Amino acid sequence: MTRRRQLADVVFTTVIPRGLDAGVLYVSIEYATAIHSCMCGCGREVVTPFGRGSWRICYDGEGISLSPSVGNGALPCRSHYFIRDSRIIWLDAEAPRSVPEPRSLLWRLLRRLRKN
Ligand SMILES: [Zn+2]
Repeated sequence: MTRRRQLADVVFTTVIPRGLDAGVLYVSIEYATAIHSCMCGCGREVVTPFGRGSWRICYDGEGISLSPSVGNGALPCRSHYFIRDSRIIWLDAEAPRSVPEPRSLLWRLLRRLRKN
């Protein structure tokens, strides 16, 4: 697996595509959610819903930042990173989490939409 150093692209979209391109951050303002394929290259989908007490994005027309960090403790890779100005800043691996993070209602809705 190759750890990315940088996002390949930022795609603002309403409907999340079926296959996620590596290194691309897909942002749906409508659903207040971003999704990407794990930056470690493992191919797992990582969903970061926006909100108070959740993730926030900052986009200046070129670079995008996501805060807080993305911690994939529920994934086998346990990767942990910041996305800052479209660069990936790697942190120490997350502690393993046995219980996957709860999927938001919004996310389940998104999934259903995508299958149609
Ligand atoms: Zn991964």
